[in-house]
Amino acid sequence: MADLNASSQPRSPRGLAILGATGSIGTQTLDVVRLFPDRFDVRALTCGSNVDRLAEQVREFQPSVVTAGSDERAAALRDRVADVDVEVTAGEEGLCDVATRTDVDVVVAAVVGFAGLAPVLAALRAGKTVALANKETMVVGGPLVREVWEEGDGELLPVDSEHSAIFQCLAGESQRTVDEIVLTASGGPFRTRPADTFGDITVEEALDHPNWSMGPKITIDSATMMNKGLEVIEARWLFDLSADQIEVLVHPQSIVHSMVAFADGAVKAQLGVPDMKVPIQYALSYPSRWPAPHERLDWGNLTRLDFEQPDTDKFPCLRLAFDALDVGGTAPAVLNAANEAAVDRFLDEKISFLDIPRVIERTLERVSTTSSPSLDDLYAADAEARRCVEELATAPSN
Ligand code: NAD
Ligand code: MG
Repeated sequence: MADLNASSQPRSPRGLAILGATGSIGTQTLDVVRLFPDRFDVRALTCGSNVDRLAEQVREFQPSVVTAGSDERAAALRDRVADVDVEVTAGEEGLCDVATRTDVDVVVAAVVGFAGLAPVLAALRAGKTVALANKETMVVGGPLVREVWEEGDGELLPVDSEHSAIFQCLAGESQRTVDEIVLTASGGPFRTRPADTFGDITVEEALDHPNWSMGPKITIDSATMMNKGLEVIEARWLFDLSADQIEVLVHPQSIVHSMVAFADGAVKAQLGVPDMKVPIQYALSYPSRWPAPHERLDWGNLTRLDFEQPDTDKFPCLRLAFDALDVGGTAPAVLNAANEAAVDRFLDEKISFLDIPRVIERTLERVSTTSSPSLDDLYAADAEARRCVEELATAPSN
């Protein structure tokens, strides 16, 4: 393609740290980097356990530092890149270190789960721009992250497609004129499946998302609709809205990525084919838009867009998330940890699909919440919720 890297002024490449480089968002971020090789210099890559894929990425992108999820994985990674000049580190400390290095300008937070919180806070404190895919960070630590973001020089840009859509709709608008936002949801693979068959749902069926190809945890979250619940909490803190300004609307085609309704009755929506490379690229190019060969909407074949209300009897996780947001304090951290632990057990075939919301609800009932939590309080709430799931998962239906 001609002219992809055309620009009116010469610029130096931006230093990138990609946390969770081997996952779905991480690999698609590297696809975007391949489209714009002159604009980025990949300085750091990290993985949890997939050291083989990370070693391939090291050879292609030549970062100066890489991090694996544990000392054991880091040792395995060191073996695989022994012939390359690259520093290998491990664990949360390693993640926080790469997120704050002086040669890093932009941190792509694409790890999954609670593990994203500490490095995102560290990056914002160090004044970095964070392209945030890891929604669990805002769910667990929304008020704390907002505080660090508002007080420092760091910037937080959404990658999640709905939040990128809202962010794009808000461009040039005053926050005061926002009536409400409408987060669209595909409804997942079980939108039309009768609720009385949910007890038979297999892991394979739950991993078969109709519109998006994503990592296993978020794919299960989409099947339970917890993903939309997490996104409601993420939106509350990213855009500083109240819970009653956030609507959820099921839109099975995933073409309208989300909408903003304004005080004068106007509604703005952002549309496109479901392709995460578009919101990833926007977070990296912001405030510019860069021409790119991503798939276009085919107007000739676009005959209808459907919308329906979510069914919270069938998908109680969505209600649980709104409830946790309402309670506040550590409740969203408990919701998140219970969900992570329950999804892990479902993927391991230890509990059923219907047990996921049951286990989360009972954990929220059992674990007491703290208001205005510190970072330590959030870690404690996370650990306690996981312990509670461990206990409940042995007899979830009692
Ligand atoms: P994934 O499972 O495909 O990838 C996760 C990455 O994080 C991998 O590189 C993995 O090695 C690493 N990782 C996992 N656990 C870790 C740990 N404890 N410590 C350090 N690294 C760890 O997940 P994904 O689908 O790419 O999702 C990443 C994040 O982006 C999630 O928070 C998800 O909700 C969000 N998100 C994903 C999509 C999508 O299309 N995949 C869309 C919107 C938002
Ligand atoms: Mg999303």
